Amino acid sequence: MTGSGAAAVAATEPAAAGTADGGHEEEIRALIGRMTVAEKLGQLQQLSWTGATGPGGSQTAAAEQAARKGELGSVLNIIGARHSNALQRIAVEESRLGIPLVFGLDVIHGFWTTFPIPLAQAAAFDPEVARVDGEVSAKEARSQGVHWTFAPMMDVTHEPRWGRIAESCGEDPYLTAAFAAAKTRGYQGSGPDSLKAKDRVAACAKHFVAYGGAEGGRDYNTVDVSESRLRNLYLPPFKAALDAGCATVMASFNTLSGIPAHANGHTLTEILKEDWEFDGVVVSDWNGVGELLPHGFAADGADAGRIALNAGVDMEMVSTHLAEHGARLLADGRIKEERLDDAVARVLRLKHALGLFADPYVREAQAVPGPTPETRRAAREAAARSMVLLKNEGGVLPIAPGKAVAVVGPFADSRDLHGTWAGPGGEKFPPVTVLHGIRDAAGRGARVTYGVGATKAADVVVVVVGEGVKLSGEAASRSDLGLPEGQEELIRAVAATGVPFVVVLLNGRPLTVGNWVDSASAVLEAWHPGIEGGNAVADVLFGRVNPGGKLPVSFPRTVGQIPVHYNHENTGRPYDPKSPGNTFVTGYLDVDRTPQFPFGYGLSYTTFEIGEPRASVTRIGAAELKRGERLEVEVSVRNTGEVAGDEVVQLYVHDPVASLVQPVRRLRGFERVALGAGESADVRFSLGAEDLGFWTNAVDGRFVVEPGRIELFVGSSSTAGASCTIEVS
Ligand code: BGC
Repeated sequence: MTGSGAAAVAATEPAAAGTADGGHEEEIRALIGRMTVAEKLGQLQQLSWTGATGPGGSQTAAAEQAARKGELGSVLNIIGARHSNALQRIAVEESRLGIPLVFGLDVIHGFWTTFPIPLAQAAAFDPEVARVDGEVSAKEARSQGVHWTFAPMMDVTHEPRWGRIAESCGEDPYLTAAFAAAKTRGYQGSGPDSLKAKDRVAACAKHFVAYGGAEGGRDYNTVDVSESRLRNLYLPPFKAALDAGCATVMASFNTLSGIPAHANGHTLTEILKEDWEFDGVVVSDWNGVGELLPHGFAADGADAGRIALNAGVDMEMVSTHLAEHGARLLADGRIKEERLDDAVARVLRLKHALGLFADPYVREAQAVPGPTPETRRAAREAAARSMVLLKNEGGVLPIAPGKAVAVVGPFADSRDLHGTWAGPGGEKFPPVTVLHGIRDAAGRGARVTYGVGATKAADVVVVVVGEGVKLSGEAASRSDLGLPEGQEELIRAVAATGVPFVVVLLNGRPLTVGNWVDSASAVLEAWHPGIEGGNAVADVLFGRVNPGGKLPVSFPRTVGQIPVHYNHENTGRPYDPKSPGNTFVTGYLDVDRTPQFPFGYGLSYTTFEIGEPRASVTRIGAAELKRGERLEVEVSVRNTGEVAGDEVVQLYVHDPVASLVQPVRRLRGFERVALGAGESADVRFSLGAEDLGFWTNAVDGRFVVEPGRIELFVGSSSTAGASCTIEVS
C-alpha cells in the first residue's frame, strides 16, 4: 500500500487542461486586433441571468442586449440547455465578431445529484470522494449548458463561527490542497484537451486569498496576517489546484493586511500571475469590484475599475465599472492597453480551452435531466465515507437486527440534508430523510417508530438534531455553536427516559456538544450529507458501512476557546499534557485548553493498532532535499477487532527549532486504509522538501529547508501517535 497525500497525487497524474492552449495564441492575438475598446471591455464583463440581488437587480435584459452588441464575455446563473443555447445563439450569430459566451454557475457539491457538503467530504480523508463529486457534477452541469463552476472553494479556516466553513475543507492546508487538486481533476479531467469534452467544466480556485481568516468568523471581514502565514497556511491549496490545471481563480471579499483582495497586486499579480505563471482568468467575486467603494479603497466606480484591473482582476462579476468607465480610463492612461489586452486574452483562452469557438452549443436532447441510480449510489457512498463516529459506548452501534428503534428530532424527516449551495438539484430533488433511510434499512417487520411519545418502548432512540440549511454557508456566521432552539432540551428529555440513545448530527460546521454528550451512548457526525443522506446515515447506524471518517476541523468545547486548532504554535510556556490543569500556561481558568474533539479524530466499529514509523534514512541533506531527494516513511497498521473497517493513518511533522516558530504539528501525509478483521498493511509516505521546509516571512517569498532535527508522528488523529526523528544536515 502506498501512502497518498497531495504531493503523491500531484506527482503521479498528468496535469489537467488548464488554459495553456498554445495552439490558439495567434488566433487570440488576431481577434484582439480586430476588437473595439467596447468589445474588449465587454469580454471582461460577467452579468447574472437570474437573481435580483445584483446592483440594478436582475440583469437578464442587459445581458441579452450586451450579447447582441458583442459587449459581454460571460453570464452566470443561467440554467438549462435550452436557455443557454438561446443566449449563446445571440452572441454567436448576432454580434459582430460572434465570440461565444462562457456560462458560469456555483456547482459546489453537485448539480442535480447533491453530494455531501465539502467540509463533510474532507472528513472522508479520501480525495477520491471529491474527484467523483467533481466528475458527476461536471457531467450534469455541462449537459445543461454550464461551462464553468465557481469551485472548489479552498479557504483554510480556524473559524467554526464562519458559515462558509461548510464549503471549506477545514483547518488544514495539506488536506485542503489534496481535496482542491482532486476536485479540480474531477471537474476538468486530465490532459491537454479535457475541457473540450462535453462532460467537463472549468474549475475556479476560490477565494483568493485568506478569506477564511475573517475576524471573529464574521463573513466578509478583515484579515491581517503575516506573509509567512499567508504562504504556509492559505496559499498552498491554491498552488495545488493550479498544479492540477485549475483554469480560473476568484478573488475574495476580504481585505488582506489593509488591501482589499480585489485590489491586491501582490497576491493577484506578483504571486499568482508572475511567480506561479498562471495564465488563466481571475474573476471578481459578486460585486467585488463595486465593493472597493464601501471598503473605502476606491473613490468612485471608475477608480474601482482601474484599481481592480491594474491589480490583476480579469473579469468583473455583476458590477459594471470597467465596462462603464474603461474607455475613459484607457484614454486618460489610467489603465494600459497592454493590461486590457492581457485580460481579454485570458478570457478568450478560457473559451478556446472549453472548445466554445469550435462548438458553442450543448445538445439539448442529451441534457441530463436528474440524478441516476449510479450517481445516487456515488453520493450515498460519499456521504457514508464522510461520517465521523464521535462516541460509541456500550456497543450501542451498530444497531443489531430486530431492535425496536424510535426516531425523534426536528431533523429526522427534514429536507435540510442538502446543505448550503446545493445547486439546482437542491430545489428539484428532495433528499432521502434519515427517517426514510432508517425505515428502509430496518426492512419490513422491523419496529421503527417516529416521535417522542414512542421512545419508552424502544431498545434504542435515534435523535436527529443539527442546523437548518440556512444556518451555515455564506453570510451565515453564528456566535453560539450549540444546537439551536430547544434541541438540547429534547436530548435531555430523551436522556431522562433511560433508554440508550444515539445522536445523529446534521450540520455545516463544528458544534459545541455541551453536557448532553455525556448522556448519549453514541454520537454520529453526519454533516449535511446530500441527496442520499438518510440512506447513508442508516448504512452507518445498522453497520452496513463501518464509519471511517475523521474530523477535518477541531470541535471546540466552548465558543470562547476559538480559535482552537491542532496546527497552532507553542508559546514560551507550552501546554504540558501531563498537567492539563496548569492554567499558568496558555489555557483558560474555566475550561480545558484542548478541543472537545481534535482534528483527525474519529472512531470505528473495530479497533486498529498503528506501529512505529520507520524512516528510510535517519539523516538527509537539505541540499539533496532541495534537489528532489525524498524520504520514505513506512508504518504498519492492523485491524485488531472483529469486523472489517477503515483507518486513516496520519503523518505529522514538527520542526522543533527553526528560524520561524513552527506549528506543533503539521499534517504531511494520510492514507485511508480498508482492512478486514485481523488484517494488516504497510502504509508508505513520501516526504520531500515541500513537506519539511516552510516559507519565511520574506515578502518576495523564500522557501527554506533548514538543518536540524525533524520529528515525525504517525497515528490515528492529530493528538495520538508514535514518533521518530530524522536529522536534516
Ligand atoms: C460568493 C462566491 C460565489 C458568487 C457567485 C458570491 O457571493 O462569495 O463564492 O461564487 O457569489 O454566486
